[in-house]
Amino acid sequence: MKDIFCKIIDGEIPSTKVYEDDDVLAILDISQTTKGHTLVMPKKHCGNILDCPQELMHKVFDVAQRIGQAEMLVFGAAGVNILTNAGECAGQSVPHFHVHVIPRYLGIDPGFQITMKPQDTSGMDLPRIAQQISENIK
Ligand code: AMP
Repeated sequence: MKDIFCKIIDGEIPSTKVYEDDDVLAILDISQTTKGHTLVMPKKHCGNILDCPQELMHKVFDVAQRIGQAEMLVFGAAGVNILTNAGECAGQSVPHFHVHVIPRYLGIDPGFQITMKPQDTSGMDLPRIAQQISENIK
């Protein structure tokens, strides 16, 4: 079954388009966490960033960067969150790779922060953890 973003890409469901080229579509997020909250996605289906071909992923992030720059310019945003969730347990609710571009406004938005709770690392072997990741980078 098609996911909701594939349906939007195929024109079966309406969306508010921000940008489109042969490979990439950007639309306004229906939830508008802040004014201008945009989703950038590949037109070709990929489940998330981890299974997206590298060249296509670069195109998606290129568009995300340019949209962030435009939002700073046109809306006077003071900053931008650019993020992607991969996997349900990481907060991904639509199983089609997409990058959130969320402009941030000084003093007027409620303050949105990605939850990154520090934990006690005293019992953790950080060099070993880094080594395990490092050795498995392909
Ligand atoms: P995520 O939780 O990272 O998978 O993000 C999915 C995002 O898609 C959420 O922020 C939703 O608000 C947004 N969304 C879901 N359905 C639609 C839709 N039909 N049009 C635009 N955005 C949508």
